Amino acid sequence: MDISITQRLSFKQASLTVLVAFILGTALSVIQVGIDYASEDASINREISALMEISHNPAARIAYNIDAELAQELVLGLLRSPAVISAEIIDNSHMTLASVSRPPDTDRYRLFSDFLFGERRHFETPLFVSHSPQEALGLLRLEVDTYAFGSHFLRRAMLTLLTGFARSLLLSLILLVLFYFMLTKPLTEVIRALSGRDLHTPNHSKLPCPRGHERDEIGILVDATNQQLSSIAMEIEQRYAAENRLTEHLNALENVVAARTGELEASNTRLLESNRELQQAKRTALDMALARSAFLANMSHEIRTPLNGLLGMLALSLDGPLSNEQRQQLSIAHDSGKILVELLNDILDLSKFEAGQLELESLPFDLGTMVEDTASLLSQNALPNVELTCLIDPQLPARVLGDPTRVRQIISNLLSNALKFTRFGRVDIHVDSSPAGIRITVRDTGIGIAEAARARIYQPFAQAEIGITRQFGGTGLGLALTRRLCEAMQGRLELESREGFGSKFCAELPLPSYAPAPALPALKGRIAALSSANSGLSELLGRLLPAWGLTYQRLDTDASLLGITADLLISDCPECLPGMRPVCNAPILLVTAYGSFLPGEQAHALAPLEQIARPLSRHTLLQALRRGLGQEMESAPAPSPIEQQSGRRARVLLVEDNPVNQLVAKGMLGKLGCEVVLANHGGEALSQLQQGNIDLVLMDCNMPVMDGYEASRRVRQGGHHPGLPIIALTANALSDERERCRAAGMSDYLAKPFRREELAALLERWLPTPADPSAAP
Ligand code: ADP
Repeated sequence: MDISITQRLSFKQASLTVLVAFILGTALSVIQVGIDYASEDASINREISALMEISHNPAARIAYNIDAELAQELVLGLLRSPAVISAEIIDNSHMTLASVSRPPDTDRYRLFSDFLFGERRHFETPLFVSHSPQEALGLLRLEVDTYAFGSHFLRRAMLTLLTGFARSLLLSLILLVLFYFMLTKPLTEVIRALSGRDLHTPNHSKLPCPRGHERDEIGILVDATNQQLSSIAMEIEQRYAAENRLTEHLNALENVVAARTGELEASNTRLLESNRELQQAKRTALDMALARSAFLANMSHEIRTPLNGLLGMLALSLDGPLSNEQRQQLSIAHDSGKILVELLNDILDLSKFEAGQLELESLPFDLGTMVEDTASLLSQNALPNVELTCLIDPQLPARVLGDPTRVRQIISNLLSNALKFTRFGRVDIHVDSSPAGIRITVRDTGIGIAEAARARIYQPFAQAEIGITRQFGGTGLGLALTRRLCEAMQGRLELESREGFGSKFCAELPLPSYAPAPALPALKGRIAALSSANSGLSELLGRLLPAWGLTYQRLDTDASLLGITADLLISDCPECLPGMRPVCNAPILLVTAYGSFLPGEQAHALAPLEQIARPLSRHTLLQALRRGLGQEMESAPAPSPIEQQSGRRARVLLVEDNPVNQLVAKGMLGKLGCEVVLANHGGEALSQLQQGNIDLVLMDCNMPVMDGYEASRRVRQGGHHPGLPIIALTANALSDERERCRAAGMSDYLAKPFRREELAALLERWLPTPADPSAAP
């Protein structure tokens, strides 16, 4: 341990003490010198005054006697005094009796003396004799050199200051030594002992206390340090013990980890193995899913083709002359076939959902008309006591964007359920535009759905109750599909129901508007309606007729028409009419249930009478009103799209290899007013097309020799028939089929088996009418 002298505690202590002592000593010395100076200064005057007093009497006598010789001796005697440098005796006539002087001493320190005491001082005293003190005899004058006194003073002052310094120096030396032995040395010993210890190893030996310091601060410091050292030693021991334990644990842990790693590696290998197996299983499952899809597609094709034939032929037969019994039997067969097709379609759709293959289209379509058409189609299923009504919001956009096929499926499922589960009362379908898009509400007064069954009915193959199938039929697939379809369109399906009182299904579909609501027709006239207040007809007429500019008055079915002036009478009560005729001769519009028209003679008796089947579509009602009120539009009726501009019938090339399907499609096309040209495969179709004059091609996809895809591709590549519509006929239900047909150049797609209405709608869409030559999209 090496501490420089100036940093040592003893030096600092000593130097501080000495500094204080020096300042104090110097101050005291200066005070002492000051006092000495004052007394020296006074002693000059005192001594010279004493000298002059001693010399006064001799000098007075000498002046009295005017003795120059004695005067000279006296002044010489005065000059011997070391301070006197000049002495003079002057008589009363101012004559100098004796005068002596000598030069003052020169010395290099006299400057200080002269500064302190003045260079010289003059003394004079009047001379007189004691018996005549008033008589002035002359003057004794002395000049004194102060240096004789000042030099003594300077010597003393110097000595005082020097001894003061020497004292301080000595004191500091003594203190330094004392402090060194009392403070620095014992501390240095303690520090040396402390720094010699290894603090990392536990050491319980105590630091030695410097001798003689056991009870002072150093002793206490050593004791406190010893306590700290012993607790540090203990902590180190504990830490070592803990570290040892930790090391043991670590070793144990390493062993466990090694064991676990071994196990993990083993299970990893097993996992990899099972992963490989899973991958394999996944591949197999995917292959199986693909195979299932392909199987479904093929199966649907295989089932649909004969079904198509079956249904087509039945429909054709039903149009021919039949006995009632035959018609009934064939109708049952036809209906059963249709149910089979629907079931097949539902199962296929569900499997498409499950395979994530359902793709939605976005096409503009007239939702209102679609609802009315679907309702009209399904009205055949309504019991005679059930009134089916379509209530379309007049603000509903003329066309909305969405997937028309799937929206129709939703409407048809909800409506057919409502009709199926309602034995009497009303089934209404409301279509409104809502802030979220479109709201389709189907409300019925049927059996309702129990609270407990509401969650279940959306499960595939689930019904509200066990006896439902037996009583009403059905498979339990409709609602499952409907809900999935609503959700796929980002919409939702909600249900409100009271068991025994009816149900209300509400489908909210966010279908954007494509074309705004059409302008409302403007009619003139007074209409009287004979219908009960809570009938669907009353509600429909109450909404539409005033909006169309007509004056509308509803009468209860048992009311009399006497005194009522109406331009047209609308009623849904055939029994009420015969009694009315005598008092009202306005034309009658009778709205009846499906298939319940009045027979010829009854109708004749009520003439002028027009009968319309429920549900009333807006278009049908409007036309009937115009006719009844004599306000028919001037324009000529638009020719059927099937009839071309030239007046000739549309020529449709039917490319189909299956003779049954050929027969069915040919029959339907013939009924729709088309001329059919047949081709058995793609090759034949190409040569038929070369002969020209074909307006539309119905192309089966899977055919021998040349399939429909290849044939369509060639037609498009040939470029001879640029605008020719080619409609794919396919029983393949998979979602990529439509894309495949489009890629081959086909214009549209018709799934087999198809109904006559579907074929008619398609022809309407693709065969341009003179009024609207650009109708084809
Ligand atoms: P399905 O009608 O073929 O049985 P759905 O999935 O369409 O299958 O309907 C499931 C069940 O929900 C029906 O069996 C019936 O119990 C109940 N349900 C559906 N719609 C109605 C309704 N409008 N009124 C009463 N019950 C209904």
